[in-house]
Amino acid sequence: MQQKIALRLLPSEAVNNHLIIKKIASSLGKKKSDITGFLVLKKSIDARGKDIFINLSVTSFINEPFVDRAPQEFSFKTVTNAQKKVIIVGAGPAGLFAAIKLIEAGIKPIILERGKDVKSRRRDLATLNKSGILNPESNYCFGEGGAGTYSDGKLYTRSNKRGNIDRILQLFVHFGAPDNILFDAHPHIGTNKLPHIITAMRTLIADCGGEIHFETKVADLQIEKNQIASIVSSDKKEFKADAYILATGHSARDIFELLHSKNILIEAKPFALGVRIEHPQVLIDQIQYHCTVKNELLPPASYSLVEQTNGRGVFSFCMCPGGIIAPASTAPGELVVNGWSPSKRNNPFANSGMVVQVNLEDAIQAMPHVKNSQNDPLLFMHFQKMIEQQSYEAGGGKFVAPAQRMDDFCNGKASSSMPANSYLPGLNATDLSNVLPGFIYETLQKGFKAFGKKMKGYYTNEAVVVATESRTSSPVRIPRNSETLEHPQCNNLYPCGEGAGYAGGIVSAAMDGEKVAAIITQKLLHL
Ligand SMILES: Cc1cc2nc3c(=O)[nH]c(=O)nc-3n(C[C@H](O)[C@H](O)[C@H](O)COP(=O)(O)OP(=O)(O)OC[C@H]3O[C@@H](n4cnc5c(N)ncnc54)[C@H](O)[C@@H]3O)c2cc1C
Repeated sequence: MQQKIALRLLPSEAVNNHLIIKKIASSLGKKKSDITGFLVLKKSIDARGKDIFINLSVTSFINEPFVDRAPQEFSFKTVTNAQKKVIIVGAGPAGLFAAIKLIEAGIKPIILERGKDVKSRRRDLATLNKSGILNPESNYCFGEGGAGTYSDGKLYTRSNKRGNIDRILQLFVHFGAPDNILFDAHPHIGTNKLPHIITAMRTLIADCGGEIHFETKVADLQIEKNQIASIVSSDKKEFKADAYILATGHSARDIFELLHSKNILIEAKPFALGVRIEHPQVLIDQIQYHCTVKNELLPPASYSLVEQTNGRGVFSFCMCPGGIIAPASTAPGELVVNGWSPSKRNNPFANSGMVVQVNLEDAIQAMPHVKNSQNDPLLFMHFQKMIEQQSYEAGGGKFVAPAQRMDDFCNGKASSSMPANSYLPGLNATDLSNVLPGFIYETLQKGFKAFGKKMKGYYTNEAVVVATESRTSSPVRIPRNSETLEHPQCNNLYPCGEGAGYAGGIVSAAMDGEKVAAIITQKLLHL
């Protein structure tokens, strides 16, 4: 017999399987020897009270042989000579998961990716971090695996209505992710493990007969009779297929410009912009776990903060315990920061985006020189770019980031020094009121003070505020029919993933890739 039960354990109990079996037996009124094993279904930490508990939901096996979790089986077809072909622009999570879903259906994916494979890409990231030299085609956003490869790899999403989250996690496990992502409440892979997983995905796609063309930047679209007739790369190669998935991510500004120049409908999409904030991890552990010495059985602590201030939302975004702040720019002269952490989350700092909602009126006011700004679908993109350029200049070049200590930021005082920090290109102590628009700066000032009241110790001059966190989501939406998922003007073009405005994060982008691939399959195979 099998029975599901919930257990509330101390951290020391949660690592002791014998004790867990004893607890299961006593809560079921059985003998310890009746319990042959258990499977964890969900694991979360409850750190709200003075004592910290681990909540486990388990399936217990009673007087029957224990069967361990079996990896899910997938059936991938050979598509080398498949009759139907789909071009996928962009090898991020949306593009890769779309390709795999198409392979399952017997359709050949042809992926066009402007960046390099994961290994070559790593060298470009090292040059950026060490020498401040950016490759605009190979960076934290562009290249195999997209922005997901050298990301943090947090797989938590609230988008559970958009698709099958469990299938995405099972696929990650199939390609080499640890299986605790299947039951952790906040699953995380880590930057060190993601490149191997992405390489395994590419190997499968290629082994099945799909194509991946690296360093192939899509630069033009040929349109005939409300259809894409072909796609042309920057080196003038032409690619044709039965359908085209556009999964180019939120940083492909040239794609937004190309669509606009071809009169293909795109829309301005409000987004959020702000800074990345970094504290010593030990401080966040002390605050969240209410202790002076952290229990080593607990993972580095995280937080999630939100506040309404000045009539607008300010919230934490993509928190990375034990992480690193990274330069996530895609063009020279523009500074963007983001964060990642290794699987062990064992760096001494805790960083998080802290961002403010930007509305249409804000962007119009900030850019009085833009004509007819109200109707410009690229307005938010131009606004984003303007702040990134201001940030780069204030840093002084080579992707050194302008920064200010938190208390100084809130009191409008220049910092005389920078604390130890994780940002490899370096920080330049700067008055960030000269970098950020007034409404963002002032909202953040109030937000930090409010967060300091929610988390005692958070508001401190040991924390550093780094500009600019500006790629939180796409500043543009590429519309699509809600049922057929086709672009309203091109019935074989499928906008997909984060760049098109239908996802925010790895899992939701992957789910959107699958959703688009499923619709294309129905159409091409007349299912
Ligand atoms: C440092 C960092 C940390 C992050 N941490 C997390 C996290 O922990 N959890 C999470 O859920 N999300 C995280 N994200 C965000 C996440 O990576 C994205 O939400 C996700 O990758 C979006 O997937 P996508 O496939 O829609 O687009 P992308 O991943 O952006 O992929 C788009 C791809 O298209 C390619 N492309 C663009 N233009 C062209 C063109 N013209 N021709 C050919 N190819 C083109 C790009 O090179 C890129 O590879 C992080 C991002 C970064 C940068």
